[in-house]
Amino acid sequence: MIRSGLLEHVEGFVGGRWVGAAGGATFAVINPATGEHLADVPDLGERETRAAVEAGVRALQSPSSVDERRTWLRGIHQVLMEQRQELARIITLEHGKPLKESVAEVEYAAGFFSFYADQLGHLAARVLPGRIRNCRWTVHHRPAGVVGLIVPWNFPLAMLAKKLAPAIAAGCSIVAKPAKLTPLASVAFWALADRLGIPRGVLNLVMGQAGPIGQVLCSHPDVRVISFTGSTEVGRTLIRDTALHIKRLAMELGGNAPFIVFDDADVEAAADAMVANKFRAGGQTCVCTNRVYVHRAIEARFTEGVAARARRLKVGNGLDPDTDIGPMVNREGFDKVAEHVRDALARGAKRIVGDDPARPAEDWGCFYPPTVLTGVKPEMMVCREETFGPLVAISTFEDEEEVLALANGTPFGLAAYVCTSDVKRIERVVGRLRFGHVGVNTGTGPTPEAPFGGMKQSGFGREGGIEGLLEFCEPQTVACA
Ligand code: NAP
Repeated sequence: MIRSGLLEHVEGFVGGRWVGAAGGATFAVINPATGEHLADVPDLGERETRAAVEAGVRALQSPSSVDERRTWLRGIHQVLMEQRQELARIITLEHGKPLKESVAEVEYAAGFFSFYADQLGHLAARVLPGRIRNCRWTVHHRPAGVVGLIVPWNFPLAMLAKKLAPAIAAGCSIVAKPAKLTPLASVAFWALADRLGIPRGVLNLVMGQAGPIGQVLCSHPDVRVISFTGSTEVGRTLIRDTALHIKRLAMELGGNAPFIVFDDADVEAAADAMVANKFRAGGQTCVCTNRVYVHRAIEARFTEGVAARARRLKVGNGLDPDTDIGPMVNREGFDKVAEHVRDALARGAKRIVGDDPARPAEDWGCFYPPTVLTGVKPEMMVCREETFGPLVAISTFEDEEEVLALANGTPFGLAAYVCTSDVKRIERVVGRLRFGHVGVNTGTGPTPEAPFGGMKQSGFGREGGIEGLLEFCEPQTVACA
C-alpha cells in the first residue's frame, strides 16, 4: 500500500468534503512495475457526480473576483513546486514512468497555473470604440458555469492541470474525473488545493465508474462545458451524449504522429529529436511519433543512429534513477505493442532492435523493450493505429508529395514533426500538414503558453495559450443605448 502525507484521504472531494462511495465500494490501484496493490479508491458514480454538480452550481452563486482567482492559481503553482518530489513519486508508482519524467510532469503542470495567473487581464471587458447603432458596445467574458473535466492516465497531473488552471481562471466550478488507472495524483492534488482556502464547491473530484459519471456530466443541464482528453472512441460517445443540451466541448483525442526526415536534415539531430520524442513515458503520449518517414538516401544512417540510441535505453522500475523506460501502464497496453510488432513482422517488416519480451520472475508482465522496425508499410497496424508504446516504425520515401500523402493519410491530426534544413521546404510542407501541432527540427510537445489541440478526428478545442482560457468563457455582448 502506498504511504504519503498527501494521501491521508483517498476519497473523492464534493462540496468541500472528502467523500466515499455510498455502499463502500472501491477499486484497486496497481503499480504497473511490480503489481503491488497501491490503494483502494472509492468507486463513485452517478449519485456523487450529481452532488458535485450541485455543489458547483451553489458555488457559482457567490462569484469569485479575478484577484481571488489569481491568488488561488499562484498558490496552487507554489504548492505543486514545493511538493514536486512527493507528487512525482505518486505518479511514478501509479503510472510507471521514470521519476525524472514525473518531476518534469509536475513542473509542467505547475506551469499552467502560473501561466493562467498571468492571463486574467484577458478577461477584462472590451469596450468597442465609438458608438455603433447609437449604442455603447461592451464584450464580457463570463464564466461558462459548471464544467466537467475528464482526464486520461498518461499524464495524471499535467492533463488535469491543462484543464483545471484555465477553468479556475475563467471563474468556473469544476467536477473533475481522473482515469481509474491513475487517480492518486488527483487525490494528492486535491489535498494540496484544500489547504488554499478555495470556497466549497469550486473544486470537486469524482473517480470511479466512467459510464455513470460521464452520463451525469453529459445529461445534467447545469454542466455547460465538457473538456475531455482520451480516446477518439470515448470522445465520440461524449459528443453524441451531449447533443441534447448543446454543451460546449473541448475534445483532445487520439493521434498518429508522423516524423518526417528529409535528405537535407541534420541526421544526428533528427535521431536525437525522434528518440527523445518517441520514448517519453514509454511511448504512451498522444504526441509521440507513431510513424517515421525517412528519405531513402539517408535511411541507413538515420536507422543506425536511432538503433544505437534505442539500444542504450534502460528499461526498469521508474523509481530506479537509471531507468529511461518504465512499464506499460497495464497488460492491455503491453499486448497492444506486441500485437503491432507481430503484425508488422508478419507483413514483412524487419526488426533492427528489440527481442520478444523476456519474462523474468520479477517482471510483473508490463515491461516492453525498445523496438525498432524497418520496412514498415501503410497497411500495417502500426501505421493505422496509435501504438502507445516504445516501438519505432520506419518507412522510406522518395519525394515531398509522396511523404505528404503518407503523413496526412490518417483520420487523425494531432502532432507531426519535420526535419529539414531547407527554409522554403519548411513553409511548403508545414502549411500542408493537417496536424494541430508541428515540430520543425524538434520533437518537442506542448507548452502552457501556446494553444495545443487536434485537427480531424484528433478533436477540437485548444489547451494552453489564451485559446485554452476562452474554452471556459462565454462571451456576452452588451449594447447599451
Ligand atoms: P480513454 O479510455 O478514452 O479514457 C480517458 C478518460 O475517459 C478516462 O478518465 C476514462 O475513465 C474516461 N472514460 C472512459 N469511458 C468514458 C465514458 N463513457 N464517459 C466518460 N468518461 C469515460 O483514454 P485513455 O486510454 O485513458 O487515454 C489514451 C488516449 O488518450 C489515447 O488515444 C491518447 O492519444 C489520448 N490522449 C490525447 C491527448 C490530447 O491532448 N489530444 C492527450 C493525452 C492522451 P476510466 O479510466 O475510468 O476508464
